[in-house]
This record gives sequence, structure tokens and C-alpha cells, in this order.
Amino acid sequence: MPHSQGSESRYRGRFAPSPSGPLHNGSLLAAMASFLDARVHHGEWLLRIEDIDTPRVVPGADRFIMQQLTALGMQWDGPPVWQSQRLGLYQNAFDALAAQDRVYGCACTRQELPPEGAYPGTCRHGLPPGRSARAWRLRVPPGIERFQDRWHGPQEQDVAAETGDFIVKRADGLWAYQLVVVVDDGEQGITHIVRGADLLDSTARQRVLARQLGISYPQVMHVPLLRDETGRKLSKQNHAAAMDLSQPMNTLNRAWEALGFEAVDAADPPSFWQTAQRQWAARYGLQAH
Ligand code: GLU
Repeated sequence: MPHSQGSESRYRGRFAPSPSGPLHNGSLLAAMASFLDARVHHGEWLLRIEDIDTPRVVPGADRFIMQQLTALGMQWDGPPVWQSQRLGLYQNAFDALAAQDRVYGCACTRQELPPEGAYPGTCRHGLPPGRSARAWRLRVPPGIERFQDRWHGPQEQDVAAETGDFIVKRADGLWAYQLVVVVDDGEQGITHIVRGADLLDSTARQRVLARQLGISYPQVMHVPLLRDETGRKLSKQNHAAAMDLSQPMNTLNRAWEALGFEAVDAADPPSFWQTAQRQWAARYGLQAH
């Protein structure tokens, strides 16, 4: 539900789960923080299903994620979007980059590249004789990318030196996450990104790409990741269990504590969210609803 009062009405946030499985306690943190931040800014909270990486999509996971959010009292604004239905947007962005020679075809296979570090620029000035393009890379201009993360503070990264020219279209023909996320956030008018800290490292690359596309990049906040007993990040790849919806208050409070707050003594999700909004607003010097 769009709000139209004051300058804060321009806040637009989003939650962008990949439907590669149900939400787990780790992904709940990003959902919770992005939802609260949107609500206390009197902003919108959009839901974008990031199903671009088709080999990892689990049929039905999108619907299940929506049910999980609803069961925990997190209602998104407006109709959700699916990346798989927005391929034309990504193609247009790619064409715009190609028209300005900002991307180039790359023939390198994984085996031909150093195991870590920046892409050495092998195909930057043309494909080696007899080779054809597998993937497409962005020509990353030199320079240090600096930005403020609302959780982690000032950040800087020399993208050209640390990552080098990165992939925008993959060898399997799929659009790369970095491209689609920048195009989507731009096209949807997102002003604030709140997501997991595993993506903090991608932010500088996304800022570089956004600039090349003439998109103004949102403010960012990267919230902590949950780890299992062995210190591994909770993720679908690590087969983290789906959230326990039979005990919604425990599930919500566990995520809330991981965000650095004290458990809320609430009877149901709506009263949990009321208290959580007040505390989140207080932490960030905002006015709760
Ligand atoms: N789809 C990504 C994930 O589920 C999140 C992307 C983003 O928030 O930028 O990890």
C-alpha cells in the first residue's frame, strides 16, 4: 500500500528470495529486517521472486515462501514479480551496454582462469583466434568504489583489481545475478536494499554496473548471517531446515535476537511486529507507525 505523506513516502524496499527452497531461519533475518525497515520508513515492501537461476529453482518454492511470509505476518505491497517474466528488461539492459561497448564476449573456461583473484582480462581486447564467446563480461573501469553500509559502516572496494571484469551473461546463457538485481532494483524504483551480509561483497560490483546503466543505486544495509553449530552459514545449499511455523513466536524471536534485540513477549505475530517496529525505529532514530 503506497503511502503519500512527506519525504519518507519515497522509501521503497524489497525482499528478493531465490525460490531454491523454503525460507530458513537465516533467510528470515533478511525478510524481517527489510520488512521492518520499510514499515518504519512508512515505505513500500515489494516481493521479487529471483527465479533467474533456473537450474536451482524448486517448483512450488515461490508459493511456499509466500505462505511462510504470510504465516509470520509479513505482508508485501502490490503484486510480486518473477524474474523469469522479465527477461526482456535484462536483454534491453545488456543491449544498451553492448551498444556502448561496455561488455565483451569471453571464451575462457573455468580451467583456464586462475583459481582466485581478478579476471586477468584475457579476452578484453578480443577473442583469441579460433575461440568463440561463452560468457559476457562488463568492462570494469578503474577506480575505488566507496559507499556507506547502514549496518557495517563505510566500505570501499577496488573492483577492477579485486574482481576484474565480471560476468553479466553466463556461459549457460542465463543472465547473471549481478545484472538482473541491478536492473530490477532500478526498474522497480527501489531506494533501500536490506539483505544478508553474504551480498555485501557484491555491492561494489552492482554499483559499478548501475552507474554504467544510468541507474541510481539504492542505500544498503547488510544484516548478519546465521550460522549453524559448526559455524557454516545457514543456507539452502547446506540444507538448512525450513522455518518452524508451528511455533511462529519462537521463530520470529530467534531471528529478532540474531538482529541484536531482546526477545519480545508477544502473543501473536501482529503484536510482535508492533513492538519490533517500535524498537527498530528507536534504533534508527525513526518514528514507528
Ligand atoms: N536472491 C538473493 C538470495 O536469495 C538475494 C538477492 C538480493 O537481495 O539482492 O540470496
